Amino acid sequence: MERVYNFSPGPSQLALPVLEKAQKELLCYGDTGMSVMEMSHRSKMYTDIYDKAVADLRELMNISDEYDVLFLQGGATQQFSAIPLNMMVNKKAAYIDSGNFAHLAAEEGKRYGEVKVVASSRDGNYTHIPDLGALEIDADADYLHITQNNTIYGTRYVELPETNVPLVCDASSMILSEVMDVNKYGVIYAGAQKNIGPSGLCVLIVKRDLLGRAMDICPKLLNWTVQSEKGSMYNTPNTWGIYVAGLTFQWLKSVGGVAEIEKVNKEKAAMLYAFLDESKLFKPTAEKKYRSRMNVTFVTGDADKDAAFVKAAAAEGLVNLKGHRTVGGMRASIYNAMPIEGVEKLVAFMKEFEAKNA
Ligand SMILES: *Cc1c(COP(=O)(O)O)cnc(C)c1O
Repeated sequence: MERVYNFSPGPSQLALPVLEKAQKELLCYGDTGMSVMEMSHRSKMYTDIYDKAVADLRELMNISDEYDVLFLQGGATQQFSAIPLNMMVNKKAAYIDSGNFAHLAAEEGKRYGEVKVVASSRDGNYTHIPDLGALEIDADADYLHITQNNTIYGTRYVELPETNVPLVCDASSMILSEVMDVNKYGVIYAGAQKNIGPSGLCVLIVKRDLLGRAMDICPKLLNWTVQSEKGSMYNTPNTWGIYVAGLTFQWLKSVGGVAEIEKVNKEKAAMLYAFLDESKLFKPTAEKKYRSRMNVTFVTGDADKDAAFVKAAAAEGLVNLKGHRTVGGMRASIYNAMPIEGVEKLVAFMKEFEAKNA
């Protein structure tokens, strides 16, 4: 059986060298005689894996000592609760609603305090990022939450909002795909299953001066300060997930780091959008200015043709191109691990399908 080009939005394709290394080390890691899955998380052999993963992520994203890096559980969604629980000192926060996950984050925030949605593109079916011009953010708001790439709708922020309150960013579907200036953020968090590794894991980068503010009711496991003091090991962490994340970081370093992969990502996205803009059959759905480089959404305008396309593509080894159930159409997720050949093959197949079906 040959490997396919997997355009899944998440869990998504991992880089082949990462899977090959994990396979090679599956039974015996180094000279330990055991699998990473069988190691004590407190053993030196494991803490070395953990420390290297943290150090490599710090290097890749140029994260200063002012920030702590944590590997937490429960994916990105668990942080929708952890963020207010750790940050709502004044019980007040601002959110920008730019998509489904942004909306869910704001809804969860409401359970813990006053949430003001300061900009929204919900009425426009989330085809664009809301106008960031005149945001009315209360000076005593504890933070402003954004979702920098909207996985379902295929949009991305082209600039960050101006604010004096800490910026909290859900970077699940864009982390490590482009250079980010970490210093502009209070918190960056990302579910691992898009650009990093196995699902269930969440990377959290938090400015240290935001620690120590958790509400009394904050569950210990969600308390960033506790996790920071314990090196992400208040309980048994997702050791395997962190190991695979570490392999991804090593792979990314080997191909030149984030600035290099950003060039490739731009090239992949440009190739796909250039075809879509010319196509007589397929139409891109996100507003041009805000097009995502990670999730490319498009339709034919005919649900039966969409379904026929998704099916025919899968038969060619181009799988998981169906759009999210709430929006329909198609979505090609082209994260870091999708090689340029995968996108070339997709475009070639779309041309072929168009010739027969336009
Ligand atoms: C996938 C995704 C999530 C949800 O991640 P889980 O790990 O399933 O909780 C949240 N936000 C964004 C932007 C995502 O793409």
